[in-house]
Amino acid sequence: MTDVDVVVVGAGLAGLTAARRLRAAGRSVRVVEARDRVAGRTLGGTLTNGVPVELGGQWIGTTQTEVLALVAELGLTTFPTYDTGDAVTLYRGTRTRYGDETFGLSETGAVEVGRLRAELAALAETVSLSTPWTSQAAADLDRRTLDEWLRANTADAEALAFWNAVVPALFSAEPAELSLLHFLFYVKSAGTLDILVGVTGGAQELRVVGGTHQISERLAAELGDDVVTLGAPVFGIAQDADEVRVTCASGTITAERVIVAIPPALAGRLRYEPALPAARDGLTQQMPMGSVIKIQVAYPAPFWRTTGLSGFAFNLDGALSVTLDNSPPDGSCGVLVGFFEGAHARTAGSWSVDKRKAAAVAELTELFGPAAAEPSDYVERNWMAEEYTRGCYGGRLGAGVWTQYGAALSEPVGRIHWAGAETATVWNGYMDGAVRSGDRAATEVLTCLDS
Ligand SMILES: Cc1cc2nc3c(=O)[nH]c(=O)nc-3n(C[C@H](O)[C@H](O)[C@H](O)COP(=O)(O)OP(=O)(O)OC[C@H]3O[C@@H](n4cnc5c(N)ncnc54)[C@H](O)[C@@H]3O)c2cc1C
Repeated sequence: MTDVDVVVVGAGLAGLTAARRLRAAGRSVRVVEARDRVAGRTLGGTLTNGVPVELGGQWIGTTQTEVLALVAELGLTTFPTYDTGDAVTLYRGTRTRYGDETFGLSETGAVEVGRLRAELAALAETVSLSTPWTSQAAADLDRRTLDEWLRANTADAEALAFWNAVVPALFSAEPAELSLLHFLFYVKSAGTLDILVGVTGGAQELRVVGGTHQISERLAAELGDDVVTLGAPVFGIAQDADEVRVTCASGTITAERVIVAIPPALAGRLRYEPALPAARDGLTQQMPMGSVIKIQVAYPAPFWRTTGLSGFAFNLDGALSVTLDNSPPDGSCGVLVGFFEGAHARTAGSWSVDKRKAAAVAELTELFGPAAAEPSDYVERNWMAEEYTRGCYGGRLGAGVWTQYGAALSEPVGRIHWAGAETATVWNGYMDGAVRSGDRAATEVLTCLDS
């Protein structure tokens, strides 16, 4: 007789969704969470004026139906990201204001970017979401990095600068760190590149009033303190023919099955008895997290709106590739959200907070004018430094990994099942994918328990 039917490791969206499904099916569950809070890669912060800002995952697109349904079920509400007016792009010291589909690029640059987007979209169509390693031409697509493909397909410096800003904005990693197959899988998993990068009609369309961390907080409150144990990092998982034993800071829990709902890079650091199959361990050795420091810069008012700017900016010259308006729904103060991503994050990660703030404010001033030089507040979160995340937005696959190790990403190992945004086939890497993965893992476990 085990302590519970199922242990869930990690109280992020994936783990809590799985626990909720299992409980609804009448199964006993224990969720063990390393941190002294739930919600993982979503995290609420507050400006000094009391306005809530999101320090982790925040935006939800209208095609992210699973997380949207959960938001509604839990009694939370959404509001649209401010997206009225022109955007700006900075390239080689020239600031371009635009309101069309050109991303503020020159005519030749925009045409070239459009051509590459169409070619990548056609290639993405050939990728299998459930088993990317079986895609037509998988070996060829996985042999090359995205950077190699881009350089082989264009010599246009502006187009390359565009991709070198957009790719870190999506992956917190550089084009040279992703296989072409992984990039294409990720695009198809979200629908299209336009959906991935878009605000209205795209992945950045909606925000949750009060912040997305509340989704996990409400799920955990529903489950109750008897189910969710905080401050209990899991160290090891042992299994045999009778049970699985999960050892965490507060002791050992026995169960029929365990769902590991933490990023693969962290799952690889647990001690397993017996040792994991080589393919699974090989995967976790090669799926590093992205690099990101998320910043929120506040002003007494969203001053950019008065000159007809939306707050959306692309900086092809600087460290903050993308900036958006992140003001509260009532516009009672102005907030610009930005990200140090990929190589920029690794450089900025060694700076002091003051130096990062000064660098960010200098860039915002170039983009939005002198009013940006006088922020009233600055908050940030360096996700690379978080012991129980070690980087965001998620894990990435470099050249050769999908085809050599991809099958081990979600394949259960005996009594161990894997969940988390990285294992999702739809909206991989996003909150919606995390919810879907929790649901999928719970279904897997219920099938085993019922058989
Ligand atoms: C800066 C940033 C911006 C983002 N922006 C967006 C966005 O706008 N929209 C979007 O949809 N997504 C966004 N994301 C991604 C999104 O937040 C994640 O995909 C999602 O939250 C992942 O959920 P998860 O449950 O899979 O993993 P996690 O949230 O990482 O949950 C895993 C949990 O496991 C715990 N844990 C780790 N190790 C152990 C251990 N050994 N023992 C016990 N517990 C452990 C962790 O503390 C954590 O609570 C962003 C992420 C970041 C960081």
